[in-house]
This record gives sequence, structure tokens and C-alpha cells, in this order.
Amino acid sequence: MSATIIDGKAVAARLRDEVAHEVAALPRAPGLATILVGDDPASAVYVANKRRQCVQAGMRDLHRHLPGDVRQDQLGALLDELSADPDVTGILLQLPLPDHLDATAMIARIHPDKDVDGLTEVSAGRLALGVPGLRPCTPSGVIELLEHAGVQLEGAEAVVIGRSDLVGKPMAQLLLQRNATVTICHSRTRDLARVCRRADVVVAAAGVPRMIGADHIKPGAAVIDVGIHRTDAGLCGDVDTEAVAEVASAITPVPGGVGPMTIAMLLRNTLTAAQLAGGQERGAA
Ligand code: NAD
Repeated sequence: MSATIIDGKAVAARLRDEVAHEVAALPRAPGLATILVGDDPASAVYVANKRRQCVQAGMRDLHRHLPGDVRQDQLGALLDELSADPDVTGILLQLPLPDHLDATAMIARIHPDKDVDGLTEVSAGRLALGVPGLRPCTPSGVIELLEHAGVQLEGAEAVVIGRSDLVGKPMAQLLLQRNATVTICHSRTRDLARVCRRADVVVAAAGVPRMIGADHIKPGAAVIDVGIHRTDAGLCGDVDTEAVAEVASAITPVPGGVGPMTIAMLLRNTLTAAQLAGGQERGAA
């Protein structure tokens, strides 16, 4: 079998167009406040991309850049100010923060209705209860890709590899909401390959380069690779794409799979936050 390649770039481009179209119809453009603390080059690139795509979608860029030695009370005060400001629709605190800052405490200062990364306790609770709210961007992007590829989730066996708060746990919740039978694997799982071989859908988010091979995959399964690693041979994911594509029915490439979806879902969340604020929310996933 040679798997269909799920084109994340194309799906993300379509999603960005849809968001831009809906933004244009709003009485006031949503405003996204990205916050970058310090000058970490990778974080600076990520934030620049988010800001650029936000503006391209017709949203207002309300970026704040703070020095790397900013005190916790100063950052907290800024988050309180942005949370209370009706001009600000969404708040994104770029992680990781410098070591002297407590990321959990800072995330808790973001108003849950502006939490476009879906990382606050309230957002996690809303997701767990299945009530409308802002969902973490990467796992939401995975659901979009699975739906685009026509993968049946209802009643399917889904295995999520990884249990982080950012990816694995919310991923499992989103699959459960779509009536999949979900198993979460992690670093202490015994015989990962045996568990994965049960799955109709595998989502790999372990952060270990090419750890998922053809022997982990049931013939015909759909495989989503969240991992991203820079190696001497270029970028790769958690999945050995070439080998797994011989067994799977559909697979995401790295790069060009899940990666482009993350910022597209951030734009979607910023729009949803604006709709929530305006009382026009249509019911989040
Ligand atoms: P993390 O390190 O916080 O979590 C990794 C999880 O994988 C842990 O729960 C751990 O128990 C599990 N794990 C580790 N080794 C394992 C093993 N050998 N077998 C089974 N499980 C194992 O990482 P994260 O933030 O969840 O990110 C995971 C990967 O996804 C990373 O490669 C990261 O770079 C990537 N990522 C990509 C995007 C994107 O936009 N494409 C976004 C977020 C994360």
C-alpha cells in the first residue's frame, strides 16, 4: 500500500482564507496580543510568523515585546491589563519563558475567553466537559486534517502517543468527543508497537525522531505525525514516513503536515474569541 499524503499546507491555506473571509464580515477586526519575553531566536521567528499571518487575515496585531529580565509581577500586570482591555480579543504568551518566570502562574493570568492557545485551567476544563471554549491549536489542527482526509473517527480505535498538556492530553479529549475509542501511550507504556497496531488512527506526539515504524501500524491506518526534529539530514517527525507510508492509508508529511495547521488554528481561535466576546459564538468543537 502507498499512503495518501495529507497536505497540511493546502488545508491550512484554505482555513486561513475562511478565517479572513469571516473576519472581513465582523464589525470590528479581532486583535491578537502576542507577548514575547526576551530574544530567543526560535521564539522570535515563531512570533513573527504568527503576527504576519494575523495581519494577513485582516486582524489587528497588538504585539508586546518585553526584556528577558522582566519581573514576574510586571509580566503579570501586563497580562491583567490585556485581559481587561476590550480592544484585545486574544492573548498569546510565547513559551518557553526565561527560567526565572513561572509559566503556569503567568498562563493563569490570561482571561480564559482570550486564551487563544487553550492552555488555561478553564480552557482545559471546558474541553474536558465538552462545553464551548478555546482548544489548543496543534491538536485542533490534527482533527481538521483527519476530517479533511475523510478519516472515520466515530467508533474508531485511536492511539495517541504522548500525554503532554499541550498536545497529547487535549488530542485524546478531542478524539473522544468525536466518539473514537482512545488509548493514550507515554514513556512508560509497555510494548508500544502492540498497542499502536490496534489503532485505526495513530497520532504520534512523543518528541522522539522516527520512533514509529511500519511494525507499529495496522495496514490501512491513518497516521498523523506531530513531531518535528531538525537533524543533519533535514527535518523529520516522530514517524519513519517512508516505511510507514507503505502500510498506512493516509499520512502527514514533515514538514508540510501538522506544522502549518498550528498557526491556522491560532487564527481560527482568535476569531472564535472575538465571536465569544461579541456573543456570536457558533459552538466550538
Ligand atoms: P513533550 O516532551 O511535552 O511530551 C512528550 C510526550 O511523549 C510525553 O508525554 C512522554 O511521556 C511521551 N514519550 C516520550 N518518549 C516516549 C516513548 N519512547 N514512547 C512513548 N511515549 C513517549 O512534547 P510535546 O510538547 O507534547 O511535543 C511532542 C512533539 O510534537 C515534539 O516533537 C514537538 O516538537 C512537536 N510539536 C509540534 C508542533 C507543531 O506545530 N507541529 C506543536 C507542538 C509540538
